[in-house]
Amino acid sequence: MAGEPSAKKEKKRVPLVEGLFTWPSNQPALIASRCKKCGAVAFPKAAYCPNPDCEKDPQNMEVIQLSRRGKLWSWTIQFYSPPPPFKMEPFKPYAIGMVDLPEGVRVLGMLTTTENIKCDMEVELTVGKLYEDGENEYITWMWKPVEK
Ligand SMILES: [Zn+2]
Repeated sequence: MAGEPSAKKEKKRVPLVEGLFTWPSNQPALIASRCKKCGAVAFPKAAYCPNPDCEKDPQNMEVIQLSRRGKLWSWTIQFYSPPPPFKMEPFKPYAIGMVDLPEGVRVLGMLTTTENIKCDMEVELTVGKLYEDGENEYITWMWKPVEK
């Protein structure tokens, strides 16, 4: 159809903060660091081992991808806008949860839903939109309940 005004252009999906998860990907994974000496895992990835008893040598650190599934340890519903750089437009209350991953780290993240959330439920990493401008959709990682 000629002259259609709003030719819908696919917006580019851009991580709000670079380097936190593998992207672009159909199966995004969080990017963390692991200490080769003591095995301590840190997310976001750290330049030095977070273990106070371990030597502070960046050579000991390796970059790993975390498991995409974990267990919801605790969660809450937020009724206020997230702190910068995170912003959500339009804002609506959202759930945020701490998820235990097999690597022994607990990762905070938004949940994709505010309903039927239970502690110990299995969740999987996905991405979701926070806001968009004329060109891009800004995304972050989110935890999605695994359908049983
Ligand atoms: Zn260490």
